Amino acid sequence: MSRVYNFSAGPAVLPEAVLREAADEMLDYRGHGMSVNEMSHRSQMFQEIIDEAEADLRGLMGIPDTYRVLFLQGGASQQFAAVPLNLCALPGASRRADYIVTGQWAKKAYQEAGRLIDAAAIASSADKTFSYIPDCSDLAVRDDADYVYICENNTIYGTVFHELPDTKGKPLVSDVSSMFLSQPVDVTRYGVIYGGVQKNVGPAGLVISIIREDLIPADDIAGVPTMLQWRTQADNGSMYNTPNCWSIYLCGKVFKWLQGQGGLSGIHERNQAKAAILYDFLDESSLFRGTVRTEDRSLMNVPFVTGDADLDAAFVRESRAAGLENLKGHRSVGGMRASIYNAMPVEGVEALVSFMRDFEARH
Ligand SMILES: *Cc1c(COP(=O)(O)O)cnc(C)c1O
Repeated sequence: MSRVYNFSAGPAVLPEAVLREAADEMLDYRGHGMSVNEMSHRSQMFQEIIDEAEADLRGLMGIPDTYRVLFLQGGASQQFAAVPLNLCALPGASRRADYIVTGQWAKKAYQEAGRLIDAAAIASSADKTFSYIPDCSDLAVRDDADYVYICENNTIYGTVFHELPDTKGKPLVSDVSSMFLSQPVDVTRYGVIYGGVQKNVGPAGLVISIIREDLIPADDIAGVPTMLQWRTQADNGSMYNTPNCWSIYLCGKVFKWLQGQGGLSGIHERNQAKAAILYDFLDESSLFRGTVRTEDRSLMNVPFVTGDADLDAAFVRESRAAGLENLKGHRSVGGMRASIYNAMPVEGVEALVSFMRDFEARH
């Protein structure tokens, strides 16, 4: 067996130790004689798995009791609709929300909200292909906005909010899909934090939404499908219907793995060290350059180019042959992108940089 270094943006690399453990338990989960894939979600065994996963996640992120943790399906994309449908159904809501558009995922969320409510883009970095984070220190947040929305780490463009915007007292909603559990977080600064887990946490098909309790509408929302109302899953322990049992189980293992890495501050240190290796090389390279404004660089997704499309294509081809997979950039940016999530070992980044050095010398 030989494993490659997988730089995919998502679904993405998972910790090898977690995969081995899951493999060991595949036929017989802890003496129960069946796989987690075969268990009833109503069984005591599975209840323990989901309860432990939630407790461990709360511990890692320091989630206060005033926040609910929901394990949902439909991906981050479904939350693009769930966010306005729920937050604009709260008592006194004006059905207006303000969006900061810093990339394609933020734009999709903004457009989806626009189908349902009065959504405004109050800041954007579209003018420079989303290569920076706009100044959010004094935003024109509307007085009656129900919330302010950001996509905190922009998976495709490789930017991150190093400082949260001043929302002028409005609840902040953040899509953290591609930076979930990559660094310590102060949950109390947010109304809603959510992310698809397939970028930095676990297998595809699960989105975790962490929602301040008072932002979950207490009553049925007329005209909104049951499954899109947060209340439905909040009242039913995320098991109104059959959840993604497998993904919850594997995420639980990743939470334990993160505890072993020193929690979020431990993994953050590693992530900083890994990203520095790649960014330092990009800054000194005569062939490659990063595409993002330096102060807005993401620790997770690192896009870079040579400036020559043919050379970029050759790089992707040759890196693949060298066991470095999925380095092709998103079609909207071109060039290359290395996603160096929590589970990417430092050796993978070192191998990439050493390949880049060699490629540079040859070209
Ligand atoms: C991938 C991604 C999404 C979309 O996730 P799905 O689970 O496929 O809907 C949304 N937001 C961000 C930041 C992403 O990286």
